This record gives sequence, structure tokens and C-alpha cells, in this order.
Amino acid sequence: MNDLIPLVNKLQDVFNTIGSDSIDLPQIVVVGSQSSGKSSVLETIVQKDFLPRGNGVVTRRPLVLQLVNTHQTGVPQPPSSVSSDGSLNESPDRAEFLHLPNKQFFDFEEVRKEIEAETARVAGQNKAISRTPIHLKIYSRNVLNLTLVDLPGVTKIPVGDQPTDIEKQTRNLILDYILKPNSVILAVSPANVDLANSDSLKLARQVDPEAKRTIGVLTKLDLMDAGTNSLDILSGRAYPLKLGFIGVVNRSQADIQSNKPMADAFKAETEFFQNHPAYRAIAHRCGTNFLAKTLNTILMNHIRDKLPDIKAKLNSLIGQTQQELTSYGDPSFTGKAHRGSLILQLLTRFASDFVAAIDGTSSEIST
Ligand code: GDP
Ligand code: MG
Repeated sequence: MNDLIPLVNKLQDVFNTIGSDSIDLPQIVVVGSQSSGKSSVLETIVQKDFLPRGNGVVTRRPLVLQLVNTHQTGVPQPPSSVSSDGSLNESPDRAEFLHLPNKQFFDFEEVRKEIEAETARVAGQNKAISRTPIHLKIYSRNVLNLTLVDLPGVTKIPVGDQPTDIEKQTRNLILDYILKPNSVILAVSPANVDLANSDSLKLARQVDPEAKRTIGVLTKLDLMDAGTNSLDILSGRAYPLKLGFIGVVNRSQADIQSNKPMADAFKAETEFFQNHPAYRAIAHRCGTNFLAKTLNTILMNHIRDKLPDIKAKLNSLIGQTQQELTSYGDPSFTGKAHRGSLILQLLTRFASDFVAAIDGTSSEIST
């Protein structure tokens, strides 16, 4: 994700200045059965510890997570603080909930607690699921302006206060989010359950039959029975998906309980793939890092698809300004005409910035 951030920033700076709409990136939605590892995958994509995870029903309301890049002009900043040595601290990453508009969170452990409390407030204490989403915004310099959605998992048997048709209700809830053509579906399946039983692939196929916007994510590769492996799935022989399957190893429940840092988990995951006799040969196409890179490419292609539109908008804007200039008649360098020529100069400058940024995109995409 990191390679894309400066590029998208550059493009959006240009848009902000000419007052055009910013690039509308697709939203990324995680789907799968309960405890398949959805929240864990989402956390590693964002590279932050902030979601409730665990066995049993943990995610009980949709979480719509909006990432906001604070590089851009116009994003409200908290006051910068001054260190004891007199230097100015850069604004730290922060989070805000829609239901708590006046509160800012700087400690992501507190964010997790608030998600738990707000889940219980609306969905009750006893395992029930609610369709009402929690809206969370994370502001940081190190994120793309992107929306990610964490969803409750599919279950078959009602527990606690869940209604008898809990399976149908959660399926419909998930379908609402993945029906949108602008959604990229991360279809999570645990490697220790037969893929023929995968809820995520079944749901994804319903809304994306040609598998154009579905990425298969295979979790829990570390928990497979000795002597078995998922090589046929990861190499695309078992179930065809255009965007492929990517295997990951997330933190286990024991790792969560011992607060294993994300960096250590990344390292352990890399070692797992490099040392595994079945996966060694495809280790470069496995793991969370590769998943993030693949998402990067998808977003890049999306931006490339939008470029003709953006170019057309810019051209018509320049055309309009030129017409206006002509209508001023005699180009004496006073009053309106002078202002018009200034605008034209400004626009030309932004247009060339913009073309430079696009050229950067194209060359990055073609490599
Ligand atoms: P969700 O219900 O799909 O959101 O699943 P969670 O992300 O909450 O994970 C459920 C449980 O599975 C947690 O205890 C995780 O620690 C564990 N888990 C998830 N992915 C993996 C993995 O790749 N390996 C291992 N060992 N445990 C995992
Ligand atoms: Mg979850």
C-alpha cells in the first residue's frame, strides 16, 4: 500500500486545487465464515492492532472503516504538540467514531474497547448480530483514502440471543455490501476446512460470477493436519479465481493473548512460507505482504481505468477558461483580463503537474 500513497496524494492535490472530485477508490470488503480470520486479515492490511478478534462470535456489527490520509490540504489536524526539547511533533495517527463526534482516540487499544462497547450497546451482550454499522475513521499520513469493511461471519446454528434464521440474516447482510460493483471482495477461507464448504466463495460467486473482483485468502495454513497442504488451491488448480488465492498466517489466539507485536508476526509468517517444504517454491506469492501488494495493483489498475475521465474533466475546464478569456475581448492587462490570464497560467501549471503524475502512474503500472 505504501508505494501508492505518494502517487495518489499527488493526484489528489491537483484535484483539490482545481476543485474537481477526488479519485473514488473501491471499498474492500472481507467475507467468510465465523472465526475464519477476517478481522485478523483486515488488521494486517491496515497494519494496526485495533479490532476485536477471537474465537466464537466477536464481530457482531458491520465495521465501516474509512482511512483518511492526512497529507492532504483541508483535512482538519489536531494541534501539534511541542516536545520538551522545543521541537514540534508531527500529528500522531488518530481515530474518530461517528457515534462519538467530539472524542478523538490516539490509543488504538481504546479504539478496540470502544468497538466492543458500542457493539454491546446496540447488539446486546448475548451474541446477537445487528445490521447497523459502526463507522470509524482513522487519520494517518501512512494510509490511502480507502474504505474497508469488516463483517460478521456466516454461522449455521443460532446461539445466545440470535434468531432462528441467523444464517439467512447474516448472508443478506453480507450480500448488501458485496453487491456493490465498486467492492473488492476478500473471500476468506480457513485452510483447515475443506474448500468445498467455503461460505465466502459461495457468497462471492453469487455477486461476482466471473470472479473479476474476488481475491481468495486462505488463512490458518499453520493449523493444517500434518502431511496435508493447500498447494493445489494456492496454485489455482483447485478453484479458479482471476485474481488468485493468497495464503496467509495470522496471529493465533495464543499470540493475541500474549500481545505478540505485528512485526514479529510478519517475520514468523515469512519464515513459515520460506521453510515449508510444500510452499517454499511459491513463498514469494504468499503472505500478508504479497496480499497488500496485490491490493495495491488492483487499486492502481482502478486509478488507470479512471484516468480518461479525469483527463476529460481537466480538458473541459481548460476549454472553459480559454473561452472566458476570449470573451474579455481586448487583452489589455488590466482588471478582468489580467485575472483571466492568471487563471490560465495557474491551470496550465496544474495540468502539467497532473500529466507528470499520470505518466508516473502509467510507467509504474507497466513495470
Ligand atoms: P473472524 O471471526 O473471521 O473475524 O476471525 P478472527 O480474525 O477473529 O480470528 C478468529 C480466531 O482465529 C482468532 O483466535 C485468531 O487468532 C485465529 N486465527 C486467525 N487466523 C489465523 C491463522 O492464520 N493462524 C492461526 N493459528 N490462528 C488464526
Ligand atoms: Mg471478525
